[in-house]
Amino acid sequence: MNTEILPYNLHNIKKAADILKNGGIVGMPTETVYGLAANALNEAAVCDIFKAKGRPQDNPLIVHISRIEMLNDLVTEIPDVARTLAAEFWPGPLTMIFPRSDRIPDVTSGGLDTVAIRMPASEAARALIDESGCPVAAPSANLSGSPSPTTAQHVFSDMNGRIPLIIDGGACSCGVESTVICFREGHIHILRPGSITAEMLSQYADVEIDKGVCAKPSDTEKVLSPGMKYKHYSPKANVLIVDEHGADFTEYCTSHAVGKTIALGIGVSTQGIFVDYGITPELQAQRLFSLLRESDEMGADTVFVEMPSTDGIGLAVYNRLLRAAGFEVVGNDKADR
Ligand code: AMP
Ligand code: MG
Repeated sequence: MNTEILPYNLHNIKKAADILKNGGIVGMPTETVYGLAANALNEAAVCDIFKAKGRPQDNPLIVHISRIEMLNDLVTEIPDVARTLAAEFWPGPLTMIFPRSDRIPDVTSGGLDTVAIRMPASEAARALIDESGCPVAAPSANLSGSPSPTTAQHVFSDMNGRIPLIIDGGACSCGVESTVICFREGHIHILRPGSITAEMLSQYADVEIDKGVCAKPSDTEKVLSPGMKYKHYSPKANVLIVDEHGADFTEYCTSHAVGKTIALGIGVSTQGIFVDYGITPELQAQRLFSLLRESDEMGADTVFVEMPSTDGIGLAVYNRLLRAAGFEVVGNDKADR
């Protein structure tokens, strides 16, 4: 199969929507990362998403909607706080988990009795959902385990020959996946941090951050979100988080370089092994996955990444980095932390 990349316009959206209506899959831009889109209610189409990505069957997909009325058919209960959050943050990078209705096939929700729903801010994504007339299941459009795609070219490099079409909507503005929350005993429980931060959510209810966000779940532990169990977002190179800053960071990376090494620093000047990955958490989120992919293209063996701040969207950057690094944090005074 040839994979076409076509720019976002109404004509190409109609073409993509026809593929979805016929049970196919397309690459879809969103403001978070690119998605691999199929009709969420078509079991065979959703199975094909899992095959194209090589994604474990028990890791459920997020269902994307373009209008709030679409929610009623897909879920059996909407807590009041969810209605408030939808009014405040949709369309946008917030995914909420609800008890699922029997319209959602088992395969879409990974066999769970809940379903994750989001209304994307991306105009292209909402146009595709509108035009196809169905809710759209869309995990990130990368091969399972590799860094999420933030450009149409990234999708092409993972999905060439596996899907017929990618709609090119330009580089993603957030660069990290949506915030995923569920509702427990009157509070908002963050399962995956993203651009809608704990601080923003705490204006509407008490917020708790799942311990799996910053710690490795044990093999026997039951996790609330299946995606937490898997190694994620990893390039081929060995990624290590360096808990040093300024001159200590540059000194650590220079003295511990192994093979071809790239060191992503915060506000460093880009020269030698060093590459600036952004002075603000927003820039770091936008650039992180792209830089991890570029490190592979440059044939890196080792990628050092300076420990980000965990404030605001920084927590999302840190959460993705921990998984890319297999939770390995290093520094000058400690070989392994
Ligand atoms: P991705 O599709 O790659 O953006 O990943 C979606 C994330 O949402 C994964 O970490 C899933 O495990 C999580 N998720 C999706 N549906 C549910 C659900 N019903 N309950 C808990 N987590 C979910
Ligand atoms: Mg993903």
